[in-house]
Amino acid sequence: MQLKDFDVLVVGTGPSGSVLAKELARHCRVGLIGRPTQSCRRIGESLPAAARRILTDLRMWEEFEAAGHRRSWFRRSVWGGPDVFERDSILDPDGAGWHLDRDRFDSMLFDSALSSGVEYGDSAWLRRLHYCEGDKSRRWRCEVETASGLQVIYSRVIVDASGRSASVVRRVGARAKRRSKMVCFYAWFDECTQEHIGATLIESAPYGWWYSADVSNSSCVVAWHTDSDLDCGRPRNARQLLDLARDTRLISSRISGCVASGALHVAPAHEQWATPASGLDWLAVGDACLAFDPLASQGLLHALVTAQEAAASVLAYIRGTKESLADWDSRVQVILAAYLLQRCHFYALERRWPDAVFWTRRHKFEVLESAIDDND
Ligand SMILES: Cc1cc2nc3c(=O)[nH]c(=O)nc-3n(C[C@H](O)[C@H](O)[C@H](O)COP(=O)(O)OP(=O)(O)OC[C@H]3O[C@@H](n4cnc5c(N)ncnc54)[C@H](O)[C@@H]3O)c2cc1C
Repeated sequence: MQLKDFDVLVVGTGPSGSVLAKELARHCRVGLIGRPTQSCRRIGESLPAAARRILTDLRMWEEFEAAGHRRSWFRRSVWGGPDVFERDSILDPDGAGWHLDRDRFDSMLFDSALSSGVEYGDSAWLRRLHYCEGDKSRRWRCEVETASGLQVIYSRVIVDASGRSASVVRRVGARAKRRSKMVCFYAWFDECTQEHIGATLIESAPYGWWYSADVSNSSCVVAWHTDSDLDCGRPRNARQLLDLARDTRLISSRISGCVASGALHVAPAHEQWATPASGLDWLAVGDACLAFDPLASQGLLHALVTAQEAAASVLAYIRGTKESLADWDSRVQVILAAYLLQRCHFYALERRWPDAVFWTRRHKFEVLESAIDDND
């Protein structure tokens, strides 16, 4: 499709971009750019049960429910001590959450945006941004790469929904700050034991922590989170990931005797935030404004909520409430402060390895609010 001029251009076709574009398309002309499919299989995140409320608000609950994502009935963890702690979803007022099929989830949100009238630039990728200010009008000049070559799009407002790459944030003079070098190694396995069906497993270890969720009654995903600069036997394939997990208590009891059903994947998993998260005629949502440590299990909920709230801010701005974009940064600062408190609390609970670098770094976070500039 030949893209032209928009009121709002949204960069990124993940959950935050699709939801924001859909919400705005009822009111103004919205363009959406990005690539429709992921180059590698996503881990399949846990979605908290509270997401039902926002999916209902977004008029997508029935469709989501019909998609049959696997329920996550309880969480078992070994954290802060050798014992297994279990939390049943019956204790959660919202009930059980889900272990998502990310392709299916992202496609549902994306298709819903397109059927709401959003104009989509197939495989268009943001390359350059320039702010044009004339006597009578201001707008963004966006150079995007498409299958048929470079294209220029104009838009009054631009929204960064490009995830951790924060493609707009880094191009408008804002900073993407990060405070860890966390990476996640993950792979899928078949022929798992029947011991933890329906459970999400979390387990700490001297060099990081483990996550596992079942994707069927006999297959599961196993993920290892550590810092990229630590020498803790970086796995090079799924077999080595399995070997690393042998020393664990919970994870090993799920994968004993199982076989790898695919390759090993690696994903950046550091926490990151934009400073500021909005400015003159732009704002950031989802991971582009604040990407959590995966331990929080809140990234997708945050993507949906910020997309919905930011859509209201952008609409108010277009309709003449000048301060609504500047206010967006204050909103993100509130979320960031609450997140940092929670994150410090959970890492502080694990004190079994006082000399292990992975943990001393996290405990230092409690007193030292240092962040690395990640714009380079
Ligand atoms: C290892 C790991 C485990 C996680 N576990 C959980 C969990 O259990 N629960 C949970 O809720 N969350 C979890 N998360 C977080 C969750 O994956 C993210 O919060 C969520 O994907 C954010 O959605 P988003 O739409 O903001 O960004 P994304 O899903 O990252 O989408 C961004 C999109 O923008 C596109 N893009 C980037 N640059 C450009 C450009 N220049 N032009 C056009 N398009 C561009 C990308 O291709 C991508 O499609 C986890 C994350 C990691 C890394």
